[in-house]
Order: sequence, then C-alpha cells, then structure tokens
Amino acid sequence: MQQTKFNRRDLVAAGLAAAGFAALSPPVPALGQGAALPLTPSCDGKAAVTRRQTEGPYFTPSSPLKPDLRGDGAGEMLALSGFVLTPQCRPVAGALVDLWHANVGGDYDNSGFRFRGHQFTDAQGRYQFLTRVPGLYPGRTRHFHVKVRAGRGPVLTTQLYFPDEPGNTRDGIFDRALLMAISAAEGGRLGRFDFVIAG
Ligand code: FE
Repeated sequence: MQQTKFNRRDLVAAGLAAAGFAALSPPVPALGQGAALPLTPSCDGKAAVTRRQTEGPYFTPSSPLKPDLRGDGAGEMLALSGFVLTPQCRPVAGALVDLWHANVGGDYDNSGFRFRGHQFTDAQGRYQFLTRVPGLYPGRTRHFHVKVRAGRGPVLTTQLYFPDEPGNTRDGIFDRALLMAISAAEGGRLGRFDFVIAG
C-alpha cells in the first residue's frame, strides 16, 4: 500500500474504526460506526490546503502532550478527530496538532494549561482529542484554535467551527471552509476535520 492515495472521507471513517480509536468506545460507542467502510484508493490529488486564521490573543506556547482534555473542566464531551494530509491526500505521520479553546463558561486558562494540549499524528496520519464543547465569549462564535505542523515545516494556525451555530453568521472571522463535521454520539458529540497542509 506504499504511496497509496486515499479518499479523505474514507480515511477518516476507516481511521475511526481502527485500533487507536477503540479507547473511545466507552464514552462514545457510536465512534465505531465507520468500521464497515473500506479504504478507497482514490483521490483527486488536489485537496485544498486548510485555510489559515488568526491565532487570537489566548495562545500559550509549550502546551503539554495531552490528547485527553476532558478532565480540564465541565461541559458536553466532544471527540475531535481526523487526519493531517498532504494536498495529494497522503497521510502525514508525526505531525504536531496543538489544540486550545475556551471552557464551558467562555474563559481561557491563561495561567495554566486547562483545555490546552498537543499530540502527534500516528503512523496513519490520524489525530484524536477528547475534550469538551467550548463555551461562547463576546464577539465570537463557538470555535477551537489549532496549530498544525509537520516536522520543521511551516506552522498552520487556524480555527475550527461548529455547523448550525447561531453565532456563525455574526462572526467576521468565521469561515465555512473550517466547519467540522459534527454528529451526535452517545455521551457527546463527534467532531471530524482533516487538515491539509502544504508540503
Ligand atoms: Fe478564541
């Protein structure tokens, strides 16, 4: 399967069913529903690079290696997962994915690392965070902040959004290209987003 290209949607579905996601089963059993979908060796070869967005005022460098942020506060659980891919839809292994977001009350932890953590994509280019749905704060719609970096390459700084969020249309930073696919799961929500980074 070396150099095989995959359809991005199928990659995510298959990835969620893989062993690395099995740990999610107790809180969100529906995560395994992608199991029946096969990998499809097809790709248009020109996936759009994920758009950059402002970092905002609340980034803290050197977050801990911590894919499970659920213990950082209250709120509805959300499993955020997907792939880091090249524009040719090839998974990028070992890519840094750094996530930070507000707590359920809309506040950032600016003195510590609650709801701040990073991880590295696995050999198949997958990442997964377990966290809580961020709260709202004045002037912004609901969002995650993310930085993605492959090796010593350029840092992609962007934000992710929730579909059907009333505040989206009132937020001048909001970009529908950065909408996660959100679905309900027992015990919380699933959020899926694939990052496509320039080589
Ligand atoms: Fe923010």
